[in-house]
Amino acid sequence: MAEFEVIKPRFAELIIGMCHLEKLYSGTRWAEGPVYFADGRYLLFSDIPNNRMLRFEEETGAVSLFRSPSNFTNGHTRDRQGRLVSCEHGTRRVTRTEPDGSITVLADRFEGRRLNSPNDVVVRSDGSIWFTDPPYGILSDYEGFKADSEIGACNVYRLDPDSGALTIVAGDFDKPNGLAFSADETVLYVADSGRSHGADKPHHVRALHVTPQGEVTAQRVFADIEPGIPDGLRLDSEGRLWISAEDGVQCYEPDGTLIGKVLVPEPVANLTFGGPRRNRLFITASSALYAVFLNVRGLQTP
Ligand code: MG
Repeated sequence: MAEFEVIKPRFAELIIGMCHLEKLYSGTRWAEGPVYFADGRYLLFSDIPNNRMLRFEEETGAVSLFRSPSNFTNGHTRDRQGRLVSCEHGTRRVTRTEPDGSITVLADRFEGRRLNSPNDVVVRSDGSIWFTDPPYGILSDYEGFKADSEIGACNVYRLDPDSGALTIVAGDFDKPNGLAFSADETVLYVADSGRSHGADKPHHVRALHVTPQGEVTAQRVFADIEPGIPDGLRLDSEGRLWISAEDGVQCYEPDGTLIGKVLVPEPVANLTFGGPRRNRLFITASSALYAVFLNVRGLQTP
């Protein structure tokens, strides 16, 4: 089975001939939220319907339970101090895990009303926390707890690191999902996975030009993703976007040109670069965790 699809010849330079897509673990119901810890050489990821987080040890290949129940965590990232920041469907909040293991709630309400079910999160170099809030965790009891939306909208939020104030960055997404900053942090890429619940709904990634305070000064559709929907995404050191889709991970140049794909046999939810040199792409795809070494490095945040 082909493991890569080369659409533009320059994508071939990003492939290492002897490196193949490896299945590292199987047994998840819906794998999501990969986050890499170079200091411990492990990867954490969510298994949302099973209400648990798993830990993959890079040196031994072992996978163990990290947290269960996990409050149906979805996306994760690390903050400027290296602490784990998590989106929780079950408790409808964004949390931080402290070095001693205790959990601090960073955001659970907007103007007094509960969030829907925070999905994915990224931290800017100034410490501000940006996250998306679609309803996937409250649509059924499968990935959280079925409930009505109190806010009645699916927003992209910015959490101020000093005041703790939550403000809306964008309120016009159908189901905002994965997100990532450009290297200079002037562009915030946000996936809209609305098509998961309607064939005529959005399935694109938008590029929002944002001020550090979260004001959108301009925006455009970066790319329509086919097949399936975009969920998680990451940038590499050259500004290329690696975006999840039904057929694998798709690689786009900064101008929106699709140059190639890492083909994965299951729909992909999310991905992250890891390994000590950030040249290993970890992929959470439905029932399994995959990885492949590439001739690229993930973007190092400033
Ligand atoms: Mg997601």
